[in-house]
Amino acid sequence: MSDYLVRAIGFNGQVRAYAVQSTDTVEEARRRQDSWATASAALGRTLTISAMMGAMLKGEDKLTAKLEGNGPVGAIIADANSKGEVRGYLKNPHVDFDLNSVGKLDVARAVGTDGTLSIVKDLGMKDHFTGQVPIVSGEVSEDFTYYFANSEQVPSAVGAGVLVDTDHSILAAGGFIVQMMPGADEETTSAVEKRLSEIAPISTMVREGKTPEEILEAIIGQDQLQVLDTMPVQFKCHCSRERVEIAISSLGDEEIQRMIDEDEGAEAKCHFCNEAYNFNEKELKELQSNPS
Ligand SMILES: [Zn+2]
Repeated sequence: MSDYLVRAIGFNGQVRAYAVQSTDTVEEARRRQDSWATASAALGRTLTISAMMGAMLKGEDKLTAKLEGNGPVGAIIADANSKGEVRGYLKNPHVDFDLNSVGKLDVARAVGTDGTLSIVKDLGMKDHFTGQVPIVSGEVSEDFTYYFANSEQVPSAVGAGVLVDTDHSILAAGGFIVQMMPGADEETTSAVEKRLSEIAPISTMVREGKTPEEILEAIIGQDQLQVLDTMPVQFKCHCSRERVEIAISSLGDEEIQRMIDEDEGAEAKCHFCNEAYNFNEKELKELQSNPS
């Protein structure tokens, strides 16, 4: 089954909820980054949550999530838009550790427990929103939970799980975001909190192959859940040769000449999808505004 996301409300609109199945998306990122297990889990959780945050946007709006911890994977960057398209990478994909004390991939050790999580939302018409919080756990989900509470003032529960096979491929990935809307009554809040404390961890639900709908039913309750719509989710990079040409042109004639003289060409690799764009001397000359 292809990846998809579910948007829902609960308790007559007092709760807003999202859940996603992101196995193929995370696998595509893993394949392109050649990431190892613990790094894949860190990247996969970030991509999974970013996909749901993208679904909170409208029209052409998009966002970038940047998790910059002091762990060995370095910065993790994810882009998402309102159409279910996400892409992401991490600085050092070749990071893998033994399972932690509770038998899970040690994501906090890979990400680090010191640093920042920042979200930049590009809302069109040069309108930007930026929020930043310190990393509180390095487990990713908790860090986004903290972000929602402190930067957007929306009490939220965030969960994301990634299951990695012995050959490093992604067996399953998914997650949820459940948010209390302004004016939600105490009864609803405690009902959701109670269910959240009783349900299986998201990694278990993902392992059991629970659908996004089933995950939300577990958290909100079948009788209180109202699914609004579903949307396909996929790994998609928007890089192109034209964009790379523009970037090279912007370096200026002198720098392009240096690439021609010293390197006899240029190769530009997209961080997000690892696609390589090659330019020979002739092609570089054409990008100079005043070829010498
Ligand atoms: Zn790309």
